[in-house]
Amino acid sequence: MNDLKKRALQIHKKLLDAFGEPIWRNPLPAIDELVSTILSQNTNDVNRDRGFNALRAKLPTWEAVRDANAEDVINAIRPAGLANQKGPRIQQVLRTITEERGSLNLDFLAGLPVEEARAWLTKFNGVGPKTAAIVLCFSLNMPAFPVDTHIYRVSGRTGLRPEKMTVEQAHPHLESVFPPETYYAAHLNLIRLGREVCGARKPSCPKCPINKLCEYKEKTK
Ligand code: SF4
Repeated sequence: MNDLKKRALQIHKKLLDAFGEPIWRNPLPAIDELVSTILSQNTNDVNRDRGFNALRAKLPTWEAVRDANAEDVINAIRPAGLANQKGPRIQQVLRTITEERGSLNLDFLAGLPVEEARAWLTKFNGVGPKTAAIVLCFSLNMPAFPVDTHIYRVSGRTGLRPEKMTVEQAHPHLESVFPPETYYAAHLNLIRLGREVCGARKPSCPKCPINKLCEYKEKTK
């Protein structure tokens, strides 16, 4: 195991000591998670859920969402923001999945190698590496590591990734640095660290549980 992998594992263990085993909300079916994650783009979890629940209330099946007037979908998801962009995107994804698979069920992805499943998801407009990794990791229990804005920032400060790496590149990189069995917990605990301790404006290094494993001080000397 190289030094970076060793440090990643140490960071994971320290975060488990500090925050415990994280538990996300109940996993959604993969198709629900895909729509929810498209809705989450550029908004917070509360507004994502408001948009998702409003859509489910108005159009209770994914077939109904797919076949609805664009305006009805757009109006339902307004709480999630960027409705004019997200509504048509969601409907297009649902139409293409139906054309390719004959139904709106993504469980078949769990039977594919993870890279094939990832490539299948990211071919859709509006489905990037983070959205695909969330569906794979949380709904299908597959080894994928989603990198959100918090994880991107924390991994840059700590030195878990090179500073000049894009968020797209950070996905395969962090998947190679953390052991697959840690992805779920490491993902959630790094987000918590980013929200509660290593904030965008000012990190609270003295009270950070991983400050002895972080390169930020050296970088900012
Ligand atoms: S030590 Fe500071 S910069 Fe490093 S992860 Fe903790 S809060 Fe962020």
